Amino acid sequence: QAHLDRIADVDADVHAYLHVSERAVEVAADIDRRRVSGEKLSELAGVPLAIKDVLVTTDMPSTSGSRILEGFMSPYDATVVARARAAGLVPLGKTNMDEFAMGSSTEHSAYGPTHNPWDLDRIPGGSGGGSAAAVAAFEAPVALGSDTGGSIRQPAHVTGTVGLKPTYGGVSRYGAIALASSLDQVGPVSRTVLDSALLHDVIGGHDPHDSTSLEYAWPSFAAAARDGARGDILKGLRVGVISELPDSGFQAGVSASFRASLDLLAAHGAEIVDVSAPHFEYGVAAYYLILPAEASSNLAKFDSVRFGLRVDVPGGTVEDVMAATRDAGFGDEVKRRIILGTYALSAGYYDAYYGSAQKVRTLIQRDFDTAFASVDVIATPTAPTTAFRLGEVEDPLQMYLNDVATIPANLAGVPGISLPSGLSADDGLPVGIQFLAPAREDARLYSVAAALE
Ligand code: GLN
Repeated sequence: QAHLDRIADVDADVHAYLHVSERAVEVAADIDRRRVSGEKLSELAGVPLAIKDVLVTTDMPSTSGSRILEGFMSPYDATVVARARAAGLVPLGKTNMDEFAMGSSTEHSAYGPTHNPWDLDRIPGGSGGGSAAAVAAFEAPVALGSDTGGSIRQPAHVTGTVGLKPTYGGVSRYGAIALASSLDQVGPVSRTVLDSALLHDVIGGHDPHDSTSLEYAWPSFAAAARDGARGDILKGLRVGVISELPDSGFQAGVSASFRASLDLLAAHGAEIVDVSAPHFEYGVAAYYLILPAEASSNLAKFDSVRFGLRVDVPGGTVEDVMAATRDAGFGDEVKRRIILGTYALSAGYYDAYYGSAQKVRTLIQRDFDTAFASVDVIATPTAPTTAFRLGEVEDPLQMYLNDVATIPANLAGVPGISLPSGLSADDGLPVGIQFLAPAREDARLYSVAAALE
């Protein structure tokens, strides 16, 4: 009830939610009854949960921020939602996002932007700006997000929250409306490292409904976070800093906060090591071919017949109806990427664009392999700037550059966490530090982040 009251107080200004559950209090009361009757419940039982609208839910609409899915009710719950319900978390509502998770500012939502609780004139990051803003504004203690190129970590960076993109295959994508299937991962957003770890323990692990889901005996992430919080893990920890990560584009306040965090790590016994990742700088270019290519294929199912919106064209053909529906249902950024992806996949261009991008992807994976042979984690600033003003970044290419530090993890499938590293000396806004680890070493990220926190 306290969270519902908070939503009633602030969400008209923040607009973190697209839908607030009518059943939250009832569900919470039921969990309380189970607790009182002596049932053994999980550590998160009774904790409210905000859910990014990319995840389908049976009791609330799921739109992925798009008009084309306005009012869509799913016949099933995403696996992560089903697991959260089974653990006794209380779904509070569905959070705002860039349409189909394409964006870095939540300005591309068909339902209007979310505002950053630190300064309502600024963006909350994207695409999961709603989940991050809800957590930052105390409208939810924990939330679910999805991260294809940074959509959990970059919003965490600009809102002073914690967000982790799991190892590819670590968390089920069943019921996550697909953007780019070789890059998408679902993960937690929270105010503390331990909270993310607890939620990750609930949602993670093998799911037979997701063919990319790993069969792996994951350790307890909460135990890793609690272990890390004691701090001694930093002694002798080798932290890699990428020499090539372009200094240009990183705001002075962001770089200064990053260096201060490195000093803090060194003061606690960590060894700061320069590592080379010469192909990282091509990550954005490769990603913005691979992502649109996969998205153009995934979004073909919104055809006016199977899901959501249908715009009737009296006397028109099926194709006319499809074209009119897609014209009305998709926003500009989605159309841009469908056109780009379709072009990149077309005969005659496939090798030049998609094929080259896949080669770059392999080179970035090899950069990680080489780097992780000599360091335990890699650290970077999560994103180049603090929260910019709504409407300030109009050029799509400039928007894409926000993802320079987050995209490599998605291309390589490795886990990444962003946690607050302080406030920028430039503007007093939150800055995040990102840690990356080898695939399957998500627990290491929780330990290191909890130690620094
Ligand atoms: N900003 C990136 C994009 O626009 C990230 C998206 C995401 O992670 N869903 O594609």
